[in-house]
Amino acid sequence: MTTKPWSLEQCLAEFPKRDVSGITIWRQMLEGRNWNDVRRQTMDAGLEVVSLCRGGFFPAVTLSGRQAAIDDNLVAIEQAHAIGAPLIVLVCGAIPGLSLSESRKQIADGIAAVLPAAESAGVKLAIEPLHPMYAGDRSAVNTMRQAHEICEALDSPSSLGIAIDVYHVWWDPELKEQIELAGRTRRLHAFHICDWKTPTKDLLNDRGLMGEGCINIREISDWVDDAGFTGHREVEIFSDRWWAADQGAFLDEIRSSYVKLYGNEVIDPS
Ligand code: ZN
Repeated sequence: MTTKPWSLEQCLAEFPKRDVSGITIWRQMLEGRNWNDVRRQTMDAGLEVVSLCRGGFFPAVTLSGRQAAIDDNLVAIEQAHAIGAPLIVLVCGAIPGLSLSESRKQIADGIAAVLPAAESAGVKLAIEPLHPMYAGDRSAVNTMRQAHEICEALDSPSSLGIAIDVYHVWWDPELKEQIELAGRTRRLHAFHICDWKTPTKDLLNDRGLMGEGCINIREISDWVDDAGFTGHREVEIFSDRWWAADQGAFLDEIRSSYVKLYGNEVIDPS
């Protein structure tokens, strides 16, 4: 999604040229494609599939709506299994008019309904807490603490965990402790980085390159490392501004901002 204007083929051709070793594939990229071909293509390109984005959106005002969400997540599990994605990132959902606590209850019930399928497919699920500015319509899970509460209630340490995205949680005064808890409980499943621009012009699509904004990315990243996370650091930038630019040049910028942050390590756009 970071290089949204590109096709899958362009991503697979261009990412390795910048030492990118993994890719998260969004479900719309799979439309009209054979899932096994996607698995083969990414393997041939030498890229690891980090995760499938995205499942979730469980809350609904009707029972049939809730069931449709569960069915859709079951399809996502099949897709993840087929393309070789070990993980599905969950944007859990929220519905205007439904209370946040009711939404969270429906989210927990929805995850519980699909967890057995995920477990038997060997696909992990990661709850991604979203910034509270999305509590109206994208996710009623807005903090690491709330994500932990759902993980705790469903008790599936091998399959259900948390995706940390600095854009969503950097402001949380409990962040360090919650990351430590995620490490102790083996719930750290994914780590997304970008930056929060000030001012932010668009609530969805004005994310910054690392270093363009005010997030203490390296500090948070060190907490994540200290908690034992060894997965990919995924660059995830939704940006109308960058999507309007040449994507090769954008990827070069991503690479240099990553190197500035971490030194010469491998980079991973999502
Ligand atoms: Zn993310």
